[in-house]
Amino acid sequence: MRVRILPSAPGAGDLQHLITFVVEDRLAIDAGCLGLCGTPQQQAAVTSVFLTHSHADHVCSLPFFAMNVVDATGQGATVHAPADVVEVLHEDLFNWRTWPDFTALRQDGRPLVELVTIEPRHPVTRDGLTVTAIPINHPVPTVAYLVDDGDGAVLFATDTGPTEEVWEVASRSSGLRAAFIDVAFPDEMEDLAAITGHLTPRLACREIARLPSHVIKVAVHLKPAFRQRIVDQLEALPADNLAIGRIGWEYEF
Ligand SMILES: [Zn+2]
Ligand SMILES: [Zn+2]
Repeated sequence: MRVRILPSAPGAGDLQHLITFVVEDRLAIDAGCLGLCGTPQQQAAVTSVFLTHSHADHVCSLPFFAMNVVDATGQGATVHAPADVVEVLHEDLFNWRTWPDFTALRQDGRPLVELVTIEPRHPVTRDGLTVTAIPINHPVPTVAYLVDDGDGAVLFATDTGPTEEVWEVASRSSGLRAAFIDVAFPDEMEDLAAITGHLTPRLACREIARLPSHVIKVAVHLKPAFRQRIVDQLEALPADNLAIGRIGWEYEF
């Protein structure tokens, strides 16, 4: 399975200000920078978007993505999210104040943005990829996604603090190959990590010990200002198969 971590902005390099992963060119996890990367035609190749939660670093480019898809194809974009996130998008994003209500505007009878409510723990299949949402630990309702192409599976677990169910579900998936994991803060900021629902290298090490050792773990969501300290701390850990996320890179698992 090919997974690309989209770059946040021109010149940002390794810094991950905004969060979007694209699987097999056609399915996006989050839309922090989805609407900022590539041409409208390239963006329109992404036919399904799955949102983990409503925080701005995960949804802020969704209006530009939807606009580009509509302009490039004449058809609307399809966005999947849990009910709480759908509610926030209606109230705070597609509300005519922040952006025109693309969920109400229509072209050929279809909304410019179709918001599809998903139920955690109920797999849905889109274009050959089966996606399962699993609740994780963050100050607002948030899910991780397990994406399975029938041959193998990859887990996207960001943003989260210490959590339980997702590791059990992912470990039961026989084809699990890789897991992207939140490591937002350095160890000395563990108190702030706890309040804001993120992990530090030390905490992440404890969490990923719950995954099979052969699974490749990729640390993502490193806060830009602390990136080097987090990298140094991660590299000093005795964890198996732990890598630092390469922003802009396409992984093949
Ligand atoms: Zn968040
Ligand atoms: Zn975030």
